[in-house]
Amino acid sequence: MNDSSCWPVSSEKLLAETQQLTDSGVWCLDTRSQMLYWSDSTYALFERELDKAPTLDDAINYYSKSDRLKISKAIENAIDDNEAWSVEAEIITESGRKKFIRTCGRPFKLDNGAYLLFGSIQDISQSHSNLLTLKQRTKSLNAILDNLVDGVITINEKGIIQGFSKPAERIFGYQADEVVGLNVKHLMPQPYRREHDQYLTNYQATGKRKIIGIGREVTALRKNGEEFPIDLAVSETKTELGTRFIGTVRDITQQKEAAKRIEFLSHHDELTGLPNRARLLEQTEVLLRSTAVTVACLNIDYFRRINSVLGEDIGDQVILSVAERVKSAVGKYAMVAKDLADRFIIACACPPCVKEDIIQSIESLVVTIREPIVVDTCINPIHITVSAGIASLSKGTNAKDALVNAESALERAKRQGRNRSCVYQDTMLANLQYDYKIETGLHEELQRLKFGQNVGFECWLQSKVNRNFEVCGAEALIRWRYQGQLIRPDEFIPLAERLGLIIDIGFWMLTKVAGLISATNLPIAINVSPKQFLEPDFPEKIIRVMRESDAPFENLIIEITENLLLHDHTQVLSVMNELNQVGIQFSIDDFGTGYSNLRRLQLLPVSELKIDKEFTQNAFHSERDRNLLDSIILMAKQMRVEIVAEGVETALQAAYLKDSGVDLQQGYYFAKPISSELWARS
Ligand code: C2E
Ligand code: CA
Ligand code: CA
Repeated sequence: MNDSSCWPVSSEKLLAETQQLTDSGVWCLDTRSQMLYWSDSTYALFERELDKAPTLDDAINYYSKSDRLKISKAIENAIDDNEAWSVEAEIITESGRKKFIRTCGRPFKLDNGAYLLFGSIQDISQSHSNLLTLKQRTKSLNAILDNLVDGVITINEKGIIQGFSKPAERIFGYQADEVVGLNVKHLMPQPYRREHDQYLTNYQATGKRKIIGIGREVTALRKNGEEFPIDLAVSETKTELGTRFIGTVRDITQQKEAAKRIEFLSHHDELTGLPNRARLLEQTEVLLRSTAVTVACLNIDYFRRINSVLGEDIGDQVILSVAERVKSAVGKYAMVAKDLADRFIIACACPPCVKEDIIQSIESLVVTIREPIVVDTCINPIHITVSAGIASLSKGTNAKDALVNAESALERAKRQGRNRSCVYQDTMLANLQYDYKIETGLHEELQRLKFGQNVGFECWLQSKVNRNFEVCGAEALIRWRYQGQLIRPDEFIPLAERLGLIIDIGFWMLTKVAGLISATNLPIAINVSPKQFLEPDFPEKIIRVMRESDAPFENLIIEITENLLLHDHTQVLSVMNELNQVGIQFSIDDFGTGYSNLRRLQLLPVSELKIDKEFTQNAFHSERDRNLLDSIILMAKQMRVEIVAEGVETALQAAYLKDSGVDLQQGYYFAKPISSELWARS
């Protein structure tokens, strides 16, 4: 200021205005007298009444405790060093309000050696709180960045790293201070490293993007030299400091590995690493374009039992051993795939000249694979058998058909008792399809049975005659009328047994037979399958049904086969005894075809033996067969039970059997099976 007198206002006024405008006040401290002078604005800042002149202590006490020392020190230092100072601190005003102030001062040495300290104080609460907010924002921004999965890397237009978030540190293995200031190229392997500068320059010159603004997968380099895949998205931003590129980086190593694994598993079996069915089909398809192919389906018999008894871990070991055995048996000329849980598929090119050899080697594999399997975690070696179905297909066939055929053959091998192989024949698929039709039909029928609707089953009877050839009873034989056809029991009973449907079917027959016994008062025999016989409530059911029909128990003959006796002998005996006690009779059907020993049979409450029709009929073909029939009749006589011969078709047979001492006869010669209605009328 030059001459204050040329100002249109007094310097006091000017000072007062300035203080008000800048939220500030002035002060002055006489160090010798410790007198403190405040301007009006300073009083206003501290909200202190104008007539209460403050001491230095008063003034210092306005500062928050943590800042008081700072202020005292600043004053001391200023005097010692004779220097200007400036301090920011927090005060609490007379009314208890917190304010943030900046105070600065300068010492002025008086002639008497004392100091006059003068200065200003400014309320900077507003800008301070702005700063605080900014700091807080930056802090929370960093917290966000640090907690992201993705790393964030900022670079300037020269590619120099400016910021490197915590996740980026984790991803790359560097600490931020190791890389900030370095060129971002350090995070890239060759050839990207070489290209990067060029790229940045190009982008800045042409605006042509390759990465910027577009997320893409690139290869990055960790501190330990490892290259790894990342997803990189770069955006550009202008700041006061210049252009900044912000790269968001995601380590996709695991993602890529998972994708690779998914890709692998879509074509392979997880446990064995072998190709799966889909992959084998693809490859077989290709093979079939140029050559004939033999396909085999191999199934471990009763594998589920191993899993449930020994546990899945051991089950897995078994699968692995079988996989090894199959692989080494077929060598490198065949493909081996792993299908469902316990199934393998083998496919190999098979020109006609080697077809028989290949079939033979698969057949012998079924035999050699039975070698006990030793598993570390299992004390005893594990014994397994396998079944195989083999199909050979000519060039140009569809691979799926090849597999379906092999599977049909496998099904046949299983039905024949497993632990064997079966070569596909054209009739197999048709048979399977027929079986399927029958199976569906049976299910439908049982559904109708359940809801009390009419069913296609019929109860037929075939008469039995005594030594005078007079009708003295009958055997009940089931028939099934399905889709306009009369289906014989041989076609559906074995299937019904396998599917467990025989229990309901047998029960249906039982109610019919009980009704017939009650109506005719003649003995009638009924065939009972082992499955039905071994049902826990079998005896109760029989007794209940007979009682409900008011049928005498003595007239019910239950025909069982020797097969039943291969099951739990004690259970069979106890059921037979229970039923025999109420008067029900037992007959051994198809006698002579089974393996049961006579002594065992003698222990059972059996009243009748039925000589199988094979013996009856063959006896007249050769001397040997006649002797066989004679010895069977002899055996039966030893058991002291009634002897029935079935399948009698000629007068010659009938006469011979009668002369041999057979008590009862049954066969077309006397009567064919007819519907029970017809039979009752005749
Ligand atoms: P099976 O118990 O041995 O029945 C005798 C079979 O021989 C009957 O066949 C009968 O029709 C047939 N047959 C009778 N006389 C002659 C003859 O002179 N010559 C020839 N060649 N055959 C004769 P079907 O009715 O086809 O029954 C076949 C098998 O089905 C039965 O053999 C029996 O094991 C089973 N089966 C029949 N009905 C039932 C049933 O209700 N329940 C059960 N579980 N099985 C049944
Ligand atoms: Ca029978
Ligand atoms: Ca029979």
